[in-house]
Amino acid sequence: MAIWDSVLDILFPPRCKFCGALMDKSTLAPCRKCESADFWLTPAQALVPGTQFSRCVCAAWYRDPLRVEMSRFKFQNHPDHAKAYGPVLARQIRFFLPGAYDCITWVPVSDGTLKKRGYDQARLLAEETAKALGTQAVPLLVKTKNTPAQSSLADGRKRHKNVAGVYAVPDPALVRGKRVLVMDDILTTGATLEEAAQTLRKAGADQVVAAAFCRTPKDR
Ligand SMILES: [Zn+2]
Repeated sequence: MAIWDSVLDILFPPRCKFCGALMDKSTLAPCRKCESADFWLTPAQALVPGTQFSRCVCAAWYRDPLRVEMSRFKFQNHPDHAKAYGPVLARQIRFFLPGAYDCITWVPVSDGTLKKRGYDQARLLAEETAKALGTQAVPLLVKTKNTPAQSSLADGRKRHKNVAGVYAVPDPALVRGKRVLVMDDILTTGATLEEAAQTLRKAGADQVVAAAFCRTPKDR
């Protein structure tokens, strides 16, 4: 449908999903300017150690202009951004976590958030990442309570308290003895991924590793 595609391109000019720059043609890859952007993590910055998860691999700093595009992905009805971010995160996982997991899941939003937003961005990211890795993401966790957004809470202690006990594993048989890769969109203090990892381990997971597309710089 070439004509329909060009009409769409005029109505909604294609933009780079990493920096927002206007592009001639719609593509999922970072634009040329983005290829040398300073928001990409160096190999030394890509791995973040955890307590309940052994390590979390990330792809980029949560920094402008990517930060703006991540907010559009999360809050402004741009679920399609996951198709661009998944393959990039998959490359990181292939490099940093080879053979470290048996299954892939994500940190879910609550039913209330899902209803309001219309999609679960971490689920979409996990599904696109898994697809790029030649596998499938499986739902293992549920969020049992509606809580204020972690981004609305400044310090780590409040963030830990905010998510304490909010996740559950409805079917522990699916995680028992497994090494689980749990994914989220952004790693800030790690509170959310730690809580999700702890829930998975309490349900019987043998080991948990994590992945997040962005990590927040310490000075934010
Ligand atoms: Zn770009």
